This record gives sequence, C-alpha cells and structure tokens, in this order.
Amino acid sequence: MSDTPEHELSMPRPAGDKQPLKCNVYEYARTLVSTLTPMFPYVDEGAMVPTIALFYGQPGGDYGYFEHENTVDEVAIVFGSGATTGRGKAGLVRASARSHGVGNLLSEPDSPESFSLVSVTQRQSTGVQQKEAVAFTCASCSTEIYREEFDSTPPRRGMQKDEVGPVGHLHTIYGSARTALNYNADEKNRTCPKCGNVNAPFPLGRWGWDRYRDMTDIIREAHQSLSETASAAE
Ligand SMILES: [Zn+2]
Repeated sequence: MSDTPEHELSMPRPAGDKQPLKCNVYEYARTLVSTLTPMFPYVDEGAMVPTIALFYGQPGGDYGYFEHENTVDEVAIVFGSGATTGRGKAGLVRASARSHGVGNLLSEPDSPESFSLVSVTQRQSTGVQQKEAVAFTCASCSTEIYREEFDSTPPRRGMQKDEVGPVGHLHTIYGSARTALNYNADEKNRTCPKCGNVNAPFPLGRWGWDRYRDMTDIIREAHQSLSETASAAE
C-alpha cells in the first residue's frame, strides 16, 4: 500500500487549451517522414512530447552515430523490433543520461529483416532555458571532431500559436538537421585533428530531419495560403 494521499494519486483535469488526444504508435509510425517526429502538436513549456522513430535495415542502410546532449530527460520505449538485440530490442524502457550516444541501434543495418520501433519522450522545460548539442566523433579513433550547441527553449505556456504559428515543431529536429548539414558541407569539419581520418558524411537521409524541417515550412505555407483564400472570399 502506498502512503500517498488519495487526492495526490488522481490525475488533474486536462488544461482548458489542450484538447486530450490519443495516437496509436503503430498507425502513426507508418506516416513518419523523420525520426523523432512528435506524435502530438503540443511542444510548449511543460508539455510531454512523445516522439516516434522507426529504424529499419536496407542495403547501405547504416545510420551512423552521434552524441546528443539535452538539458531535459528522455525516456525511450521500444515498441517492436526484428533481428535486433541490445538497445533496440522490443519491450525495453530506458531513461537516457543527459549526454548520450545515438545510433548503431540495429544489429544489421544492411538487412531488411532488421528494425526497431522506438518512442522517445521528453518533457519541455518550464521557466528555464532548454539547451541541446549534437556532436560527431571520428569513426577511426572516437575523438570528437564537430559539435554544435543550440537553444531549444520551448514556446511559453499557452503561447505556442503566438510564437510559432498554428503548426508547431520539435526544435530538436531542426537543430540536429542544421548541425548535420553543416558537418557534411565541409570536409574540414569531418577531418579528425588527432588521427587525420576523413570521416564519411553523416547519413542524414536515414534520419530525415531536414525533410521534417522542409515539410513543416511547406505545410505552414499551405495553412497560410488557405487562410488567405478564405479571407479573400469574404
Ligand atoms: Zn580520429
């Protein structure tokens, strides 16, 4: 028996400005354009943000590896896996350290048999800055060779629409996309100062972050265009 008083165990009522929503992991996973796509539209202060990533093997399907630093906790749940052991295996739940490696989840990234369906949930900061960093390491000697930090402070509570418009986005994906594109753009960024190895570009296409960002921009324009058409018709 818990000593916690009954009233502290009951969930508070939903906030008036946030419609309770549900989303099926398996249905939603089929529509993903990116890893880490948020399942729900709320990304403001204090919001729980569950995201989904589907990693799947294919010829030349390596996902590469990077280091991620986040000022908020991330909880991963693996909702299914095939031909994969270790961190990508179905049923695993884990809370990541604030600084953690990401990638190498599939046992055989080149095999179509291999997959892992993972949700990663973070809770947005309230009243304090939220910061992240993405870094790449040398494939030959593991020295960190490129790093970008970015500010991911969420929209103020209840101000998401005013601050980012009717279509929200998860800033983690934007910051990661920019970091990977900058890293890939110049061979100097990928050259290890310690051992001289010129590292291959990060396989951004496998993660889809730039696609998520570009599609968000287009969808915002789509929303805007219909609003303009509707205003013109009045
Ligand atoms: Zn090196």
